[in-house]
Amino acid sequence: MLNTTLELSRLEDTHSSGAYVKRDVQIVRGQGARMEDAAGRSYIDCVSGHGAANLGHAHPAVVAAVQQQAGTLITCPELFHNPVRAQYQAALCAAANMPRVFLCNSGAEAVEGALKAARLATGRPGIVATKRGFHGRTLGALSATWNSHYRAPFEPLLPAVSHVPFNNIDRLVAALDDTTAAVLVEVVQGEGGVHPAEEGYLRAVQEACRANGALLIVDEIQTGFGRTGSLFAHQPEGIQPDVLCLAKSIAGGLAMGAVLLGERAGEFVPGTHGSTFGGNPLACAAALAVLDTLQTTHLVERARTRGAEALAHFRAHLSSETVRDVRGRGFMIGIELRGKVAPALRALQAHGVLALSAGRTVLRLLPPLVITDEDLWQVVSTVEEVLNNGI
Ligand SMILES: *Cc1c(COP(=O)(O)O)cnc(C)c1O
Repeated sequence: MLNTTLELSRLEDTHSSGAYVKRDVQIVRGQGARMEDAAGRSYIDCVSGHGAANLGHAHPAVVAAVQQQAGTLITCPELFHNPVRAQYQAALCAAANMPRVFLCNSGAEAVEGALKAARLATGRPGIVATKRGFHGRTLGALSATWNSHYRAPFEPLLPAVSHVPFNNIDRLVAALDDTTAAVLVEVVQGEGGVHPAEEGYLRAVQEACRANGALLIVDEIQTGFGRTGSLFAHQPEGIQPDVLCLAKSIAGGLAMGAVLLGERAGEFVPGTHGSTFGGNPLACAAALAVLDTLQTTHLVERARTRGAEALAHFRAHLSSETVRDVRGRGFMIGIELRGKVAPALRALQAHGVLALSAGRTVLRLLPPLVITDEDLWQVVSTVEEVLNNGI
């Protein structure tokens, strides 16, 4: 029997697809903002499942909802009505101020649904996306993703997709024509290096879309559900997306995605879209618990205020010898280094902090919204030590 940590890690390396570079740690459980490895060592988790664990690990509201629903009904296609799905769809639509929603199972799938909705509503093929944008790895979503490292091996991709510089409204307006179905943007580019939209940019994008007859698709797969200090990051921008893509933290870590459809996007007519697992009651129950928790606690506001404090602290204390720039919003923080980020990630892990990269040179921190003040300042001081003193 294989039972040592090392044997099980080797077994995983032998049979995994090869798509992932794994870190040298075996995670066995999580609680709040903490994760524990097989040797019982505790880490502060600023990966948050790539942003899927805004409520942290084993959140009691999510655990209770999943346990209760698992014993009631796990699967039930949208062929039938279901009371948990009904409640969730209504709650999510109200929260986003949008009339309709298509439920799916991941971020890439939400983007695929959005691209189809835009083609269906406008009868046009074209998509304008942004440089450094990331939208997922299925063929349609990949076509809108910028990084050529992800795209090149799979070309040819969707035709009629163009990329314009983010935060440049003139270049965007110039890219729109009567073949443009939609503009696809993030509010804060995540994988692309944590680049927030500049003040007024998204309002100008919305105006250009309306003038052109194109839809505005906002990808909030990473920024949604409180991450940036508001329930959805687009809300303080004063815009109303025509299509809104959500996933990651939507269901407390369970696989789920959503495509919200505004008035200009209309609706999917029967037969034009579907998903076997989409809208399953288990994911809906978890998602209902997540939304309720975010709407009835101060976690979102805390991400805004504590995130701003951490950002200000980094700006004031990180050495410009090793750090080029500090960016972010709420609990989505990017620290652009002058060198490669990989050694810093290893050093942070050695000091009990798990963090992410965003490209080769950006250190990305996505702490769970439930992180304690003590753990947050522990993260801040460890990052400072690692980057300033090279510990
Ligand atoms: C993660 C992410 C996706 C893709 O989500 P998956 O669930 O991994 O398919 C799409 N867009 C953005 C902005 C993301 O951060």
